[in-house]
Amino acid sequence: MHDVVIVGAGPVGLFLACELGLAGCSVLVLEREPEPHSPFKAKPLGMRGLSAASVEAFYRRGMLHQLLTASGVHDDPGADPDAHEPSPPRGVGHFAGMMLDPAQVDVAALPYRLPSPAMEGMLTYLEAVETLLSEQASRLGVEIRHGVTVSAIAQNDESAVAQAGEQEYAARWVVGCDGGRSAVRGLAGFEFVGTEPQFTGYTMHATVADSEKLRSGINLTPTGMYLQLSDGYIGMMDFDGGAFDRSQRPTRDHLQAVLRRVSGTDVTLSDVHLASSFTDRAMQTTTYRRGRVLLAGDAAHIHSPLGGQGLNTGIGDAMNLGWKLAATVHGYAPDGLLDTYTRERHPIGAGVLDWSRAQVAVMRPDPHGQAVQGVVRDLLGTRDGTTYVFERMSGSWIRYDLGSEHPLVGRNAPDLCLEDGTRLGDLMRDGRGVALDFSTDRCLRGSAMGWQSRMRYVAGPARNDLGSGAVLVRPDGVVAWAGDGTPDRAAFERAASHWFGGPEI
Ligand SMILES: Cc1cc2nc3c(=O)[nH]c(=O)nc-3n(C[C@H](O)[C@H](O)[C@H](O)COP(=O)(O)OP(=O)(O)OC[C@H]3O[C@@H](n4cnc5c(N)ncnc54)[C@H](O)[C@@H]3O)c2cc1C
Repeated sequence: MHDVVIVGAGPVGLFLACELGLAGCSVLVLEREPEPHSPFKAKPLGMRGLSAASVEAFYRRGMLHQLLTASGVHDDPGADPDAHEPSPPRGVGHFAGMMLDPAQVDVAALPYRLPSPAMEGMLTYLEAVETLLSEQASRLGVEIRHGVTVSAIAQNDESAVAQAGEQEYAARWVVGCDGGRSAVRGLAGFEFVGTEPQFTGYTMHATVADSEKLRSGINLTPTGMYLQLSDGYIGMMDFDGGAFDRSQRPTRDHLQAVLRRVSGTDVTLSDVHLASSFTDRAMQTTTYRRGRVLLAGDAAHIHSPLGGQGLNTGIGDAMNLGWKLAATVHGYAPDGLLDTYTRERHPIGAGVLDWSRAQVAVMRPDPHGQAVQGVVRDLLGTRDGTTYVFERMSGSWIRYDLGSEHPLVGRNAPDLCLEDGTRLGDLMRDGRGVALDFSTDRCLRGSAMGWQSRMRYVAGPARNDLGSGAVLVRPDGVVAWAGDGTPDRAAFERAASHWFGGPEI
């Protein structure tokens, strides 16, 4: 019996496996595909945008350098480590196909954005992410079995079983990370609710005979949207009510007809090397846990890829769930800790679904959609509008309600840095929480000793303490508690017990 069986070796299942392996759990990952490589995961169709929050998750586990190398990124996503003020972001991305100007971001409105080696989003490929995470998971003792399709789930008070054919895999917990068409979701009785699609989207790797007839980048047109990149990557949105998706194979003739319609040209596709379709169906399970079965990533929420948020949301799920499930497995989790996973992550998933729905509404090629598009374009051109979208795209909008008024609590911790150059991100590699004590008399030292195996205590003056005397950071990088001026020991101990269970000594 394993501590945890994860169904699905996609990026979310693998990230979660690494988190659990790091925390000393025995983990088995079951993957349907017989082998990990697929042309859909490689360049160009496997291209994915990682938000700054996701890049930071890799940084915090010591995988940033490997991520950059595996993704072929030579443009460091970090900032000058000695800078005292963060620079404006290098990119913001787009909202509903409308590109934003990073120079318009109001950096002063983002007081918790400190200089860090991981403060920009980046482009990567699914294959790069999965290879990196599989290698890391194996190093941490995780077993990954390919060619195993889970077809039944059973559970009782003590354990859960994932079944594949005649073979049963028992564990104390099963996590479904098996993607948008999740089998675990249905087999374990999760309710999946949401809205039906308005369009069929396509991505293809194609040779275009007369590519000069198409414009580069993202193009909103009176009949939909198309995207052309230099490496033969073409994306399209066709507002057919989602009728085409998966009903037939996307043939060259069909793809050319759609491309001609949405681009308003007579462009010719001389060859289509690879193509797939998707829709903007937006659905979410009503909870992320049923007994001993949990869901993460696309298994828990699906939506259109507009704004590139699915993988980022899934990595956020894995970071949030990993340490809580590990604490539960090891028996020191305080009551209710595991249920905070749904409580914190479900509203984030719902927000991402709405963010994608809003973009679809703005892109609709009817008079109402076009009218909204004009208004939104004007708003996006403002400093506030650009800053708002930047917060959404970078992940910095996320703040969990942890019941504290302190402006840092519930947020992703800024990469706080001590005067000796020690960075919070570097202190988080072993997956423990971190107590940073900036007070001159190191007043939390004695208290923190009570949770040594679950949190690291580090003291010293900070380059920029953001007005706090100490902060307690959870293993997922979220600020659990912050003290002002002279930190209150009793309050710190209450917070530590609340998140990490009673003291060890
Ligand atoms: C065109 C496109 C562009 C996108 N761009 C972005 C982007 O820029 N940024 C972003 O954040 N997101 C993007 N996304 C979304 C992103 O790709 C997904 O959200 C992400 O891949 C989900 O990861 P996952 O691990 O949850 O699921 P998946 O990647 O789907 O992995 C699930 C795994 O489970 C396995 N599995 C399924 N059923 C079973 C079973 N019964 N038994 C065992 N194994 C099973 C599958 O084989 C698969 O390996 C995009 C999506 C599309 C379609």
